[in-house]
Amino acid sequence: MPVVGAVMVPHPPLILPEVGRGGEREIEQTTAAYRKAAAWLSGLRPDTLVVVTPHSVMYADYLHLSPGDGAKGNFGRFGAPAVRFEVAYDAELRDEILAFAHDRGLPAGTRGERDAALDHGFMVPLYFLRQAAGVPWPFRFLRVGLSGLSFQDHYRLGQCIGDAAVSLDRRVAVVASGDLSHYLRADGPYGFRAEGPEYDRKVMDIVGRAAFSELLDLPEGLCAQAGECGQRSLLIMVGALDGRVVAAEALSYQGVTGVGYGVATFLPGEMDPGRAYLRKGEGK
Ligand SMILES: [Zn+2]
Repeated sequence: MPVVGAVMVPHPPLILPEVGRGGEREIEQTTAAYRKAAAWLSGLRPDTLVVVTPHSVMYADYLHLSPGDGAKGNFGRFGAPAVRFEVAYDAELRDEILAFAHDRGLPAGTRGERDAALDHGFMVPLYFLRQAAGVPWPFRFLRVGLSGLSFQDHYRLGQCIGDAAVSLDRRVAVVASGDLSHYLRADGPYGFRAEGPEYDRKVMDIVGRAAFSELLDLPEGLCAQAGECGQRSLLIMVGALDGRVVAAEALSYQGVTGVGYGVATFLPGEMDPGRAYLRKGEGK
């Protein structure tokens, strides 16, 4: 069946009290929205969650899906090794996505994994999903990375995810993990650039209206200058919702730490050819 729902979420490790040790209070609004989005997504009863993370292995010209039956990870790098996760991957869905990608000439696959351990872009969403869904996990997972390929190619991989869900009759939900600009404040960790708040304003406006074609049209220069990390995660997510009416809800936005954190939910509805923004396999 078509993708059942999607969320856009950030991945600051400090949002975990075990990592933030009090620092998480600064982004309480984000935490509240994150809990709400995780509960909402879990309530859709997906069979499989496709988590798109910018912090898996990344290649210039190849989109990587994590191989194997599953993976583990923990927050040891962030001083909280006791916060750990283990997930099972949905290999059948992965094979189906890659079959669509191969047919359409999109370079994607499972080769070249450098580190099987789950990254924080994957695990921060898991932290909230586990609170919402409990253990053992009621769903399986896929870990999908980003690449240096075009915005359109990321969107095309999303289309393959949507088509694979239909062809296997799976209830698939997509998690676009990504922070927005890293240049929001002069006193933040990375400093200030005018493009930072400009990018964040535009993205939050676009996602709130589900005006996804505008995401494809954002100038790559603006995204680079804004120092975003989640633009391509979002493009894969919206590609998975290609050709459908989408009810979007922007739940929160915060930039108090100097990095932009946006939370939004997306509920797809009926088919709408006017929202098919790229023909499948086009241009390859
Ligand atoms: Zn990031």
